[in-house]
Amino acid sequence: MSIVHILQAELELTGPGAVTAPEAHTVASVLRPDLPLARDGWGNPYLPGTSLTGSLRHQTPPDRRRALFGDVFKDPDNTSRNGREETTAIASPVRVLGTRLTLPDTPVTHRRHTAVDRHRAAAKATTLHDRELLPPGTELTLWLRIDSETTVSPLVDEVLELLRGWRPRIGGGRTTGYGRAELITVRHRVIDLSTPAGLHHWLTTGGPGLVDDQATVVHDRAQRAGGAPDEPYVFGRALQFRIADAVHIGTGTSAERSGRRGGVAKILRDHENVPVIPGSTWKGVLRARVEFILRSVGIGDVCASVEDNTSGSCGTCVVCEAFGWSERPGRAANGAEPSKTVGARGRLLFADSPVRGGEVRVRNHVAIDRVFGGARDEALYSEETVEDGHLTLHIRHDKAVPDLIRAALVLALKDLADGAIGIGGGTTRGYGTLTAQPTTADWLTAERTSAMDTLRAHHRPTSPAPAQATEEAPA
Ligand SMILES: [Zn+2]
Repeated sequence: MSIVHILQAELELTGPGAVTAPEAHTVASVLRPDLPLARDGWGNPYLPGTSLTGSLRHQTPPDRRRALFGDVFKDPDNTSRNGREETTAIASPVRVLGTRLTLPDTPVTHRRHTAVDRHRAAAKATTLHDRELLPPGTELTLWLRIDSETTVSPLVDEVLELLRGWRPRIGGGRTTGYGRAELITVRHRVIDLSTPAGLHHWLTTGGPGLVDDQATVVHDRAQRAGGAPDEPYVFGRALQFRIADAVHIGTGTSAERSGRRGGVAKILRDHENVPVIPGSTWKGVLRARVEFILRSVGIGDVCASVEDNTSGSCGTCVVCEAFGWSERPGRAANGAEPSKTVGARGRLLFADSPVRGGEVRVRNHVAIDRVFGGARDEALYSEETVEDGHLTLHIRHDKAVPDLIRAALVLALKDLADGAIGIGGGTTRGYGTLTAQPTTADWLTAERTSAMDTLRAHHRPTSPAPAQATEEAPA
């Protein structure tokens, strides 16, 4: 143990990051978000080391995870006298010394999420929640320590190789585009405690100072453009759309207007103030449509994740497997067996789509008085919308996506391009219609036939036609 290796990795968030405090599962108030960021004792945002090493562990080949990062597991080779498997713990040879988080000048942002009731085509009651996010451009530093007997250690080389190819994903909401980060640099400082210089360095410096100018730069973003590649696209491509009318995706806040009653409902914008369609909107709309398509063609056993009566995702169907699911209270009340886990992350990853070249307008609306006709008093409201403009939809995956889901997703996207479903608010008022750009439209038309064939191949004629087939399209 005479050689200490300190590895320092610097990362930068390329999108918003959601590292939720573990104490967050409390009732929120007007002043407090439902899902606040994890913070240290001084109120500064803080990133637990486990959040970063969890991401690194996830990208380690499965057969090396235990050797590099340790594990706690039921050991079949280690049974007690009554034949029960004992829990075995293996310590990680890679030690996490700590993390540091540097915020850019932009403040911590918030996003509100809600679920949509498909019958009313409006936000469902009690589903609004507020999430606090780290802004893009936040820098994160991670320090790891590995001890070895010799200067050259295969273990250190393996971890360095792993860091070099790392595609860091931090915190929650990864399937809706949160927590994407890029590696800036990786430094490696060898401290030989058997030499006076090494011992002096070890004893007189501490913390971040241990990695000084004698460290070797193992990776530098400036010299290797692009960094680690992104997760692959589900369809091998990004999809291009254009806004056909106007889109309103609200933030749940409104701006005051001078001299007029009521505010203007603001649209969601990213850190560069560009209107944005969040990954969570794509995921919600496409999931609802995929469920609808699969049930309509009689492929049963697909749950209705936001249906009122079934309250929540089942956790066993093919849609839950691809889109993820979470345990919700009330599910077990149906007489269903309560599941052993609390949910699983989806395989599909949806990113935010900034709307480029669009124009932001304020539209005024008024409610109609149904008894007397005409406009109702004090019912004027205004909202920002983004009109024209084009956007790119990125659907990636980090595990294999079932053929059935891929096919249903093609048909859902075709419906989106044909205007059968819309995104954002006010779809019943003609908002939220998109059209596909020519190359994407051609691709969707070409893929449609094979998608239909896939659905036909999965169709079991014995299953009864589902009652939900007449259900309205989601908002
Ligand atoms: Zn399900």
